Parts: sequence; C-alpha cells; structure tokens
Amino acid sequence: MIRFVSDGSTPELTTKEMTSFSAQTAVRSSNHMSEKSSIGQSPRYIGREPYQDLSPIDVFRERLRRGEKVLFPGGIGALIHERGIETKLPLWSAEALLSEHGAAVVKGIHREYLDAGAQIVTTNTFRTNSRSFLKANRTTEEAHAATLLAVYLAREARSERMREDVAIGGCVGPVEECFEPELVPDDESLRREHAQLAGWLKEGGVDFIAIETINTIREAKIAAETARAAGLPFTVSFVCNENGDLLSGEPIENAVDAVLSLEPLAICTNCYLNPEQIGATLDRLLAVSPLPVGVYANGGGTPCHETNGLKHNHSAEHYAAHAEEWLRKGAAIVGGCCGTTPEHIRQIGLRSFRK
Ligand SMILES: [Zn+2]
Repeated sequence: MIRFVSDGSTPELTTKEMTSFSAQTAVRSSNHMSEKSSIGQSPRYIGREPYQDLSPIDVFRERLRRGEKVLFPGGIGALIHERGIETKLPLWSAEALLSEHGAAVVKGIHREYLDAGAQIVTTNTFRTNSRSFLKANRTTEEAHAATLLAVYLAREARSERMREDVAIGGCVGPVEECFEPELVPDDESLRREHAQLAGWLKEGGVDFIAIETINTIREAKIAAETARAAGLPFTVSFVCNENGDLLSGEPIENAVDAVLSLEPLAICTNCYLNPEQIGATLDRLLAVSPLPVGVYANGGGTPCHETNGLKHNHSAEHYAAHAEEWLRKGAAIVGGCCGTTPEHIRQIGLRSFRK
C-alpha cells in the first residue's frame, strides 16, 4: 500500500478507494493494453467508432488531426468544496486526496463528467506539487502519494465507465499562485519542480499532461519542456486578462510563439474570466496558432481564488451557448474551469456534440 506518512492528524489512506492501490498499480505503464490487464474487465465502450483500435491518447490526437471537436471536463476544485471538503490554500483541491471521503468525492466527480459526455478526464493534481505540500507542512512523499492517488482515481473512473476512448490528462498548474505572475520562481526551481510532477504523473499512468492556468511565458516554456522531456504529449493553457494578454501582461501571441516548437497537442486558454470575457483571448489565439485551440472559462463571474469558484452565476445553458460560439469560431477543444459543473458539460454536449 502507498500511504501518507501519518503525523497523527492525517487520516491514512486505508480507504476502500485505496484497497487496490498497490505499488504495482501505481507504477504500471500508461499503455492502455496494460491497463486492461491490470484493472481487468474493461469491455469496449460502444459507440466510439472509428477509434476502437486506438489507445486513448491516439483517439485524442486523431480527433484533433481530423479537425473534430473535443469536449473537456469542467472544474473539480469548486465541486469538491461544495461537497463538504474544505479546500483551503495552499492545498486547495488536493485536500480531497487526504481522506477516504475526499478520494471518493473526486472519483465521483470524474464519473459525473464522463457521464455528462466529457471526452477527456483531467486529474485532480493542480495542487499536488511538492511546493504546495511543503507549504502545508506536509512532505514531498505525501505530494508524490497524492499525485499517484489522483491519477489512480481518474483511471478507475474511466475504467468503471468503460471509456477506453478517454485520455487522461495530468493537470499541472503553476508551481506558485495561478493569478500572481510576480511569484513565479527562478528557472532552476521551475525546471526541478515541473520535472518532478511530470515524472509522478507519468509514473501514475496519465496519457498526456494538461498544463493549465499558466500566467507567464517563462513558466509555460519550462513546463512544456519538462513534459516533453518526460516523454509525454501535452497541452498548454494560459490564464489571460480581458484583453487577451497573459496575467503577466505578456502578449498571448508571444506565448504561442514560445511553445510552438515544443509541439503541444493544443494551445488553450482557461480560468479567471467568465464566458463573456474570454472571447478576446480566443480570437487572438485563433489568429496566431497553427495548432488546435481550446478554451475553458470559469462558470462563475469572478476569479476562483476569491470565490473558490462557487458562484454559479451563469447557467449551464448560458455557458453552453458561449461554448457553441467558441466552436463556431474555430476552437477545437471546449470545456469548463472553476465554477462549472457536469451539467455545464452535459449542456455543451447536447448543444454542440450530438451527432
Ligand atoms: Zn479555474
């Protein structure tokens, strides 16, 4: 069993969720054939023609290559909070990985997004980096175990829903605060910490790395380089202001330019802005990116660090209407960030993904 080091106050992960979480499970390869044999009984998902012989990451690649749209899931952190787990900083959504109940909630959210039609699962690893755990007076070993647990929960949800067409994206956020670009540490720290998390996500068995909510070009480039060095495909998503510049003030065009040669699967923008505000960023991304472009805005009208993403002041239908517009403009990927729910994803699916 992989457990957190118990400090007396930390519940050990002796949960039902964790009973099959052996070291062997945690380190098995990301190859979907090995997943089938280790998780077992994973009948083919019906209705994923013409992709039935492809691995999850190849389904994702192929959809993008063919110019098909891809439905990402919505946010996780705010839902975790709503379901009774205190998501306080610095761990925020990673708090859920510290208890039996929390782990069950996270897996349940993954299942709900899959049931709503999401074609990707994003792991609950936005805050499982070593820096966040150390700030919370926990250890690097605990951060490692939490990362492996988060990936395991995503894989279990996919397996339970028999959705072998779904690629699992290992979420990687900024090593510091997502809305505070001035806090981004030096290059050497960035390189070391991103490499560590990318290595853990690979060990857990993600299909790709979803680099998200990145507020400086410098960190985007290093996160992309470390994902690539880990041998994993990746997406890069920037957090921007209403003008479409990164929160650092750097133009999104320069950001695209900086990561292009590293060959991301897609370049996206996410978080911070509500669906009315994110259009300017999308327009600028679409104008310069030769790669598929994605967008997942906040469901709430205010930044998630102030509201915890809890303000659902945009209805799911309203959000889905915006997503339809993003797709019409040329976005390849749509989904949701803080404050969105499985209902938001279901509504996007009903509106834009029905054959
Ligand atoms: Zn967000």
